[in-house]
Amino acid sequence: MSVPAKILKQVLSRYSSPMTLKYPSGVDPSKKYSQIPEGLRGVPERDAEKCVGCRACFMVCSGRATRIIDLGDKRTVSIFLFRCTYCAHCQESCPEEALKMTSKFEFTIGEREDKGAYVDTDLEMLRCKSCNTAFLPKKMEKRVFERLQEKMNPLVKEVVLSDYKKLEGYCPECRRARSTNFDTHTKKWLWLEVK
Ligand code: SF4
Ligand code: SF4
Repeated sequence: MSVPAKILKQVLSRYSSPMTLKYPSGVDPSKKYSQIPEGLRGVPERDAEKCVGCRACFMVCSGRATRIIDLGDKRTVSIFLFRCTYCAHCQESCPEEALKMTSKFEFTIGEREDKGAYVDTDLEMLRCKSCNTAFLPKKMEKRVFERLQEKMNPLVKEVVLSDYKKLEGYCPECRRARSTNFDTHTKKWLWLEVK
């Protein structure tokens, strides 16, 4: 075949089959770039049922994308996707396994105010029995009590749980102020020994 014929054949072959791959996934399994890779870290999702509003994801967020907004009787745990770096630190740190990195990597957000720019979960707050300050999500208090019972050394369980019950529903400030009256001060055993 002559050189011009070879060139012509090559040029024509370019137009005989598609030059691009279908996007984003699943169309042709033999083409590696048409598949979403396993373990891809895409948009994080939060299971609102599992989330207790503990703030652990906020503490570790590398992109400072997670915010905790306490307004009256409501706490909102929010991820601002414009700032998210998809590092998955939030997923690793969540004690309730409420956060999961999904394989969703394509989304369009026009404005900062768009609802789609946020991953939000609302939680109802508990108010202090004494000063009426909203200080903790209700779900978190319940979960802390459950965990306390699960992990506790049996030798101290009875005493600690009885103290906990006396302080239940009080904010940290009111607990501190009342610990002596309630006989729940953590150093009470030391005092007894000194006596
Ligand atoms: S998502 Fe997990 S770490 Fe974040 S507030 Fe909810 S329970 Fe805590
Ligand atoms: S993936 Fe990383 S940057 Fe995004 S919300 Fe979670 S911790 Fe923050």
